[in-house]
Amino acid sequence: MDFKTYVRDIQDFPEKGIVFKDISPLLKDERAFQAATKAMIAMVGNNAVDKVIGIESRGFFFAPLLAFELSAGFVPVRKVGKLPADKISRTYALEYGSDTLEIHSDSITKGDRVLIHDDVLATGGTARAACELVESLGGEVVLCHFLLELDFLNGRRRLENYPAKSLMAF
Ligand code: 5GP
Repeated sequence: MDFKTYVRDIQDFPEKGIVFKDISPLLKDERAFQAATKAMIAMVGNNAVDKVIGIESRGFFFAPLLAFELSAGFVPVRKVGKLPADKISRTYALEYGSDTLEIHSDSITKGDRVLIHDDVLATGGTARAACELVESLGGEVVLCHFLLELDFLNGRRRLENYPAKSLMAF
């Protein structure tokens, strides 16, 4: 199945000059959604995984499905101010300004093998911050895992210390 045909370009979203990759057509098509989920599970290979991280918010579409199939726990990494219990944060640079991600302090056990999932790898700042949060809690990042990556933004450079895979590249 050519998954790329289920991703559409939206001009000027969320800001003028940005072409946003919208994965809604893939999510709403039952065959494409199921096939993409299966293909993303296959991408994990023989890696043993204790926890699957989903990054808010589009990382939440697939991460729990991956966790279910891999018999792993699911852990959300959320935008600042959303998590209720004890947490740690990481602030990272965006093209303009900065953003902060948080994780519950008790969500990762020392030595956990962790898969980090998000829908899109763009500049890599978001995934990198999630990796650093996991490592701060004593987890080991076994794979950074994406539905798609935007090659021209060189996100893999920011993730050079971590294995990374995506189902599609644009
Ligand atoms: P990065 O930190 O790699 O620059 O940006 C990745 C984050 O921004 C991901 O959480 C992803 O959901 C979001 N993102 C950036 N560009 C796009 C895009 O074109 N489409 C979608 N669906 N998400 C994007």
